[in-house]
Amino acid sequence: MSDTAIEANGLTKRYGRGRTALDACSFRLPAGRVCAVVGPNGAGKSTLLALAAGLDRPSSGTLSVLGTHPAEARHRVAYVAQDKPLHPQLTVAATLRFGAELNPGRWDAAVAERVVGDGGLDMGARVRTLSGGERTRVALALALGKRAELLLLDEPMADLDPLARHQLMGTLMAGAAEHGTTVVMSSHIVGELAESCDHLLLVAAGRIRLGGGIDDLIGAHRLVTGPGPADRLHPHTVVESRPTGRGLSAMIRPEGPVGDAWDVQEPSLEELLLAHLRTPDTAPLLTPGTTPATPAVTA
Ligand code: ADP
Repeated sequence: MSDTAIEANGLTKRYGRGRTALDACSFRLPAGRVCAVVGPNGAGKSTLLALAAGLDRPSSGTLSVLGTHPAEARHRVAYVAQDKPLHPQLTVAATLRFGAELNPGRWDAAVAERVVGDGGLDMGARVRTLSGGERTRVALALALGKRAELLLLDEPMADLDPLARHQLMGTLMAGAAEHGTTVVMSSHIVGELAESCDHLLLVAAGRIRLGGGIDDLIGAHRLVTGPGPADRLHPHTVVESRPTGRGLSAMIRPEGPVGDAWDVQEPSLEELLLAHLRTPDTAPLLTPGTTPATPAVTA
């Protein structure tokens, strides 16, 4: 089994002639992590997940999933697309039976039934009569029942109420911890997945801006406040700076000790992400272990 869940090298996806959805993305996601893919609408998150799911091919660059081509890894991967495609005429029970038939030998009926049962869904109800949130539940039941090594979830929580979200996240995380599943979840709501995830990919305008363990990424940055001016922050990398009543407030990547003149704090994840989203020209950061190490399999 590979210790790398996903590895991208110069991964680029263009749609038609003009639009570049992913632009030379390189990163490594170690296996067993729970990774949030965050970024604004249109950043390229869905494109990245669809490529990893083997549903589409890169325009250039390479992508490997579980140590092989995305298309070859498909039986080991469960993917829940944003629009949760299900058969509208099937009942919930028939949908789960379908999942069992498609995944002989690995189907976990108990977890699938628990996910729909916890939502109080009627097994005899047809999918077309379900609400958006209920359909999400059925789609997640199929994905979890598959007992995949890698779960790719595109905005899985978007149409769930807070209680259902909390409960489903609990089921998801317990299953992932028990089975060592790698989970990749996208969200356009900065910070939404922070509680459940230990790893982060920040995507903006088709590029990876931050990648790595959340604690490592936070630990590599500091929020400093002081009298300024900004050039006193040399040689630290200044991600973002702005004037405040006291002088200057800045998000930096320290290159050594920060002088006594500065009040230094660890940023919250949200502060870190927002600073990077507001300053698209700052150099991206991949923490150690998350840069692609080996030549990826050509997709
Ligand atoms: P996100 O999931 O972060 O919102 P997407 O991956 O859906 O972003 O989209 C990234 C960019 O690619 C957007 O500009 C979007 O309009 C474009 N795009 C996505 N899918 C297609 C497609 N099938 N055809 C043309 N453009 C697309």
